[in-house]
Amino acid sequence: MANPVASEKSGKVVIKNIGLLLSGDIDRPILDADTIVVNDGLIVAVGKAADCELDHAQSVIDAQQTCVAPGLIDSHVHPVFGDWTPRQNQTGWIDSTMHGGVTTMISAGEVHLPGRPKDIVGLKALAITAQRAFDNFRPGGVKVLAGAPILEKGMVEQDFKDLADAGVTLLGEVGLGSVKAGYEAAEMVRWARKYGIQSTIHTGGPSIPGSGLIDKDVVLEADADVIGHINGGHTALSETHVCELCEKSSRAIEIVHNGNEKVAIAAAQAALQLKCPHRVILGTDGPAGSGVQPLGMLRMVALLSSLGGIPAELVFCFATGNTARLRKLNCGLIEVGRAADFVFMDKAQHTAGRDLLDSVQRGDIPGVGMVMIDGIVRCGRSRNTPPATAIPVVLHSA
Ligand SMILES: [Zn+2]
Repeated sequence: MANPVASEKSGKVVIKNIGLLLSGDIDRPILDADTIVVNDGLIVAVGKAADCELDHAQSVIDAQQTCVAPGLIDSHVHPVFGDWTPRQNQTGWIDSTMHGGVTTMISAGEVHLPGRPKDIVGLKALAITAQRAFDNFRPGGVKVLAGAPILEKGMVEQDFKDLADAGVTLLGEVGLGSVKAGYEAAEMVRWARKYGIQSTIHTGGPSIPGSGLIDKDVVLEADADVIGHINGGHTALSETHVCELCEKSSRAIEIVHNGNEKVAIAAAQAALQLKCPHRVILGTDGPAGSGVQPLGMLRMVALLSSLGGIPAELVFCFATGNTARLRKLNCGLIEVGRAADFVFMDKAQHTAGRDLLDSVQRGDIPGVGMVMIDGIVRCGRSRNTPPATAIPVVLHSA
């Protein structure tokens, strides 16, 4: 398995002849630009070719008038170790997901680890180990932000300080461990926040035997940073309660592939009606009982855009810039200083759509023609998506 080391540098990269540039910014989803210049993994210029410094590039990519968007961010995954998931006993799922345009994944807990420790020392050790392991190992180049401990009864404030001091920045889904009451969760979420650890809460019915119900009152009382899988993972709360969560909480509204699709649409539409589309973020909640979804993020974009009636360029922001901003990541937006993590897409061959955005609004997923992470090409034509009509061409690479 080829795994680029994190220290590899892209040098100067020029991407030209971009037909559609999606910014990831929900306030301005389409940029009037056709060129991106990258240096050592970071965007250094975005604009019209005539206004950019194009000389002396180590590699030049002709986008062939296709669409460039920020690499997709899966806000909710359950990795374990390496590129293996015991949940469906599958290897290579992260690399396969990169072929679906995903460049960053965020762990909502390494819950599928066989024999996962539930004592406090053990759960802290697992979180620290997972954080370190995925920091050192990036399947397909994908940035997996892992090390998300599952809260158990008996944890005290010092535990959260210890975790933060050791480099842990996330909590696993609150509610998957023994802490299920609103008041208990709220206290631990506050401790986590105090030490800079971001929290997510499980929302809805039990996922698998052994997990439990978290209802809207617990979600509101716990006040975690992310209302995790607001559309259930799998079983959703009622649409009325989901809409109430959107209205009464100001936290991130996370919608996942492995949830209730009808409620996914209701939640996204509620956020738009409440004029808070910037709160909507997307994930897969995979690997899970329903499988591993390499194209799960693209399928969510097509679902919400087509059946939800939401312009595709906005839904791409749910999968990129919104998540980057809410989770304070240096990716997900096409702007100077951000990571050069991109997905190149075009309408799938033989879609009824006239262009990429139209095809997505009709419910078709796009074809991925290339994925770049930190300015380095990680794949050309995707082995998983339907074939893109046009794909980018590498003109020269030093
Ligand atoms: Zn869950």
